[in-house]
Amino acid sequence: MDLPKLAIAALGGTVSMQARNAGEGVIPTVSGETLLACVPELATLARVSVETLGLLPSASLSFEVLLSVLSWAKYQVEQGARGVVITQGTDTLEETAVFFDYLWDCDEPLVLTGAMRSAKQAGADGPANLLDACRVALADSSRQRGVQVVMNGQIHQADCVRKTDSLALQAFSSPVFGPAGLLVEGVVRYSRPPAERRCLPLPQHTTQKVALLEASLSADTLLLENILKLGYDGLVIAGFGAGHVSASWAEVIEQLAEKIPVIVATRTGSGSTAQATYGFIGSEMDLVRKGAHMAGFLCPRKARVLLWLLLGGERQHELARYLTT
Ligand code: GLU
Repeated sequence: MDLPKLAIAALGGTVSMQARNAGEGVIPTVSGETLLACVPELATLARVSVETLGLLPSASLSFEVLLSVLSWAKYQVEQGARGVVITQGTDTLEETAVFFDYLWDCDEPLVLTGAMRSAKQAGADGPANLLDACRVALADSSRQRGVQVVMNGQIHQADCVRKTDSLALQAFSSPVFGPAGLLVEGVVRYSRPPAERRCLPLPQHTTQKVALLEASLSADTLLLENILKLGYDGLVIAGFGAGHVSASWAEVIEQLAEKIPVIVATRTGSGSTAQATYGFIGSEMDLVRKGAHMAGFLCPRKARVLLWLLLGGERQHELARYLTT
């Protein structure tokens, strides 16, 4: 039987990390080829090609790097790959997933995975996650679902997934909505149909700057007041509760929203911003009146990715369309 083509790229992260010498910290050194050698079973599922596109901790990935990975992934699909898998660090996986998802207009699945335990650590989860990710990428039921994150036996939708634990094996969850599916004895099982997707064209420029500031109790307005002077083109606020800020922040946000797009998300880690509940100064109703956009279910970090992509395509006027959930 002719096995399907599957393309894998390694970008680094814990899944690719090991210590050079005993007692030293782990760093990304393990190539995609070596990762693949840890999952011999894959050869029975697909004709696999693998490339090491980078060996970075995921904190040092950039939007520019991601754009070049995206063009590599699209090329793999053009060359006949049934699906594409990317291994990377988990620290920024929730951001890279949604970045790719906004730009991934193929029917073929793009699946991201990583590991919480480094390559040589006892009970390393990298090989199991990679095998699961490949199964998800090859499954017919994954088509037209955009980008999925596969970790610890769960499949998470790119717009929902968040890293919610710093070190635990079960580090990822999709607050409110739950995982989109699971792997049961190696079989891919989705628990809901594909969600409606809204893809964006590739950004024409990449120099736009979007600031992300978190509201905190008794915070001054110094950074906020200097956002324009510092050259930022957009601003995301991780607001209190359902998307709230102090009265002093609200005043500055009103001035900023006249000049640049401002999105207010919730810093709580779960749930949506409100739209029409609270009326105090700094509440969501007040901030909308002052020209800000509420992020809905999009977390602050994902909202920043969205705004960066929209600004890069000069489509910031379409923001509201991408924030409705
Ligand atoms: N825990 C992270 C990882 O899974 C650390 C480093 C990184 O994100 O690259 O890879």
